[in-house]
Amino acid sequence: MKATFPRFGYDTYVFKTLIEDLGGEVILPPPTSKKTVELGVKHSPELICMPFKITLGNFIEGLEKGADTLLMAAGTRKCRFGYYHFLQEQALERIGKKYRFVSVGQYSPLGFIFHLMPHIFGVSPLRVIRALCVMLEKSAMTHEFRALLNRKRALDFEEAEKLKRPALGIIERANSVSSIRRARNNLRVMFSVDGRKPSVRVGFVGEIFTMIEQGANQDIEKELGRLGVEVVFERSLWHHLRHLLKIDASYFRSEILARRYLKECPGGEAIRTVGESIHFIEHLKVDGLVHVFPFMCMSENIAMEVLQQLSEETHVPVLSLSFDEHTAQTGLLTRLEAFVDLIKRKKRGQRLSRN
Ligand code: SF4
Repeated sequence: MKATFPRFGYDTYVFKTLIEDLGGEVILPPPTSKKTVELGVKHSPELICMPFKITLGNFIEGLEKGADTLLMAAGTRKCRFGYYHFLQEQALERIGKKYRFVSVGQYSPLGFIFHLMPHIFGVSPLRVIRALCVMLEKSAMTHEFRALLNRKRALDFEEAEKLKRPALGIIERANSVSSIRRARNNLRVMFSVDGRKPSVRVGFVGEIFTMIEQGANQDIEKELGRLGVEVVFERSLWHHLRHLLKIDASYFRSEILARRYLKECPGGEAIRTVGESIHFIEHLKVDGLVHVFPFMCMSENIAMEVLQQLSEETHVPVLSLSFDEHTAQTGLLTRLEAFVDLIKRKKRGQRLSRN
């Protein structure tokens, strides 16, 4: 089996390790680029959300590199994600590509371990459990790496960018629990900031794919780091896996906090977006919130309304940014600069009024 799957930020290497642990060969699609988006857009329904188009582009590029099996996460049918795999399979058939399409249901851990993975890879459930343990360990490392990188970028942007490539090499090569633990310690040393703290911190919230895949958000965390802003976040593959295993305390906290504004779950990730935003403001005391989501995302448009109300009540500025294939980088950078400028002025004003 030569398997490919959509890119998912730094967690792309976590999925690669999982598939290799289960005996598959991985053909990674190239990093998401303008060409990826164009391919996806060309073969997608016009009004479908952006993650569909990008992941379809990833599949086409993976097939062009020689993959014969496509692995795609399957959602529940609370929003369009639940239909992605059906529609993508049809789109690829229309292009005339030869492949095996496997939709990977996420919401039954027992079915995943005892039925789905053994069926796809022809391995025992014990081997699946061992591979999942490595996956959890590695996703915890990529979560920490992203946080370390964001802090270092805000304090020493050039140095952080210089260290990023070797760090990703370390992450890619760490494939066992012990080597991951060693790699994690190395990353802590490499990205150490000697206790310094950036002067501006923003909370990063939104739809999970747009938050995690840099190709979907034009690497907004990097751009904020360039402006001297530390980006704090909670959403990651690690938290998502723990949520699927029902051991993620942060998810339960988000659910409780979000109830102040949302009595029902409107689908997608809206509950987490709202819950994390309240947590970032009340407990982490962030200076602002950056909210990212695909244009046309129903649930995040509902979350955006809530965040506007939250901003009015707490006086914490919120920048909501929707992404589609027409989002231009220049416009995005201008909005980010204006937002950061506003936060810095606000902080200066607060300091002066205190003195
Ligand atoms: S969460 Fe939003 S972007 Fe993701 S599939 Fe659902 S509607 Fe589309």
